[in-house]
Amino acid sequence: MVWLRRWTVAMLATVFLSTIPWPRPAHAATSRFFPQTGFSIDDPHFIDFFDRRGGLRTFGYPVSREFTFLGFPVQVFQRAVMQRYPDGHVQLLNLLDTGLFPYTQVNGAIFPGVDTQLTSTAPSVTSPGYSQAILAWIRKIAPDRWNGIPVAFHQTFVSTVSPRDAYPSGKVNPALLTGFDLEIWGVPTSRPAFDPHNSKFVYQRFQRGILHYDKTTGTTQGILLADYFKDILMGENLPNDLLSEARSSRFFGQYNPLKPGWVDRPNDLPNTDLTRAFEPSPIIVLDAGHGGKEIGASYTFPDHTTLTEKDLNLAVTTRTAAILRQAGFTVIQTRTTDSWVDAKMLDVDGDGKVDLADDLQSRIDIANNAHATLFLSIHFNGDDNPNLRGTTVYYNNDRSFARRSQYFATLLDRETVAALRRLGYADVDRGVQIDSQAVGTGNHFYLLGLHPKRPSQMPAALVEGLFLTNPSDAQVLRNPLTLDALAGAYARAIEAYYGR
Ligand SMILES: [Zn+2]
Repeated sequence: MVWLRRWTVAMLATVFLSTIPWPRPAHAATSRFFPQTGFSIDDPHFIDFFDRRGGLRTFGYPVSREFTFLGFPVQVFQRAVMQRYPDGHVQLLNLLDTGLFPYTQVNGAIFPGVDTQLTSTAPSVTSPGYSQAILAWIRKIAPDRWNGIPVAFHQTFVSTVSPRDAYPSGKVNPALLTGFDLEIWGVPTSRPAFDPHNSKFVYQRFQRGILHYDKTTGTTQGILLADYFKDILMGENLPNDLLSEARSSRFFGQYNPLKPGWVDRPNDLPNTDLTRAFEPSPIIVLDAGHGGKEIGASYTFPDHTTLTEKDLNLAVTTRTAAILRQAGFTVIQTRTTDSWVDAKMLDVDGDGKVDLADDLQSRIDIANNAHATLFLSIHFNGDDNPNLRGTTVYYNNDRSFARRSQYFATLLDRETVAALRRLGYADVDRGVQIDSQAVGTGNHFYLLGLHPKRPSQMPAALVEGLFLTNPSDAQVLRNPLTLDALAGAYARAIEAYYGR
């Protein structure tokens, strides 16, 4: 019975709105890009809905691409998830229903849960005069004054979609406006309630959002929750309280590029394709390892010419950047000259001394400050054992985005080995390895790990293209065609990561 009631309430707004004529998109809307999050709204129906229901104020920024979720095309925004039906009309997911996001503890806040006794008192969808009755019920359940406090919940609800939003041409149908508000929020699923930890906060739960009154500022606003649903799907960035509630959810940690359709457990999430759903518009940072006094590995040939790793790294990085820029990617290089990245020798990590860690921190800072979406550090290998040869791609398996880093490393390995084979250089694949295999159990490359004062914030890999300390590898690296081949391989791996 409880399930039936819940489902009935979930359907209310849907039925109500099916009586409203759906306006067709007025013009062929063009894609809109939001650099704030790196995502765009491309579908004309989503653009139209965004515009006519209050835009950024109502939805926040897009935080996903369009993808298929439980059989429907959807797009996640900071505050809501848009869903498109085959006839083109758009609705919001009932995000806060028990099936999707039943949680009450988010980042220190404690929200009321779904009150099924309350929702069972909502007017029946099939009753005559339903559309008036449901609005009257909402007026009663979502008050403007509660316990003597001016929570303004009803006022906030009914002013969600303004006449100007819904009717940009000016001809307003006031009877429908509240229907649009209902479309955004759904119906209340709890009564107002204090945060048990903070009596200055009052919340009211709706099907698609939570209204929040803050006594310290006297303001009432909706809480951004769809962003957290994305974090649940990704299994990343979750505050500890929500993490412990959501860990057993069928949606938790599903975003996995190592699986078909990027869905980790498809039995839990049928008719869903998460491929690149949460990959923002690419900003690539290419890092040429070493530089200046840090020469890295080196090899001196019998004719006394010497190849140094720092030079090869820069040569390959510069070529890779050129290929990617030609293909339309935004590319940032940590260095373009033979110097430290921390060229001014500043104590950027603030530990009281200037050392290699400052140079590495500077590289990470460049990537973080650019909001890079992918980081590739380009190196060549060196070892005391001159017999070691071949390519290795490292990633850190101990970061929240490790699966994406592993996927990137796998693409790099595949493309690098294929490119060297085409040059006639076979049997060199040392494969994808976790960085602990190079630096010891429990340790990670400084550049990829959590040890720096400001760790990197994006999927990353470190590629070691052949051993400079092996005579035959060094000979191959003397040929500029090898550097071209490696640059082409790294660029192709990055293109493949973004499905190009
Ligand atoms: Zn190196």
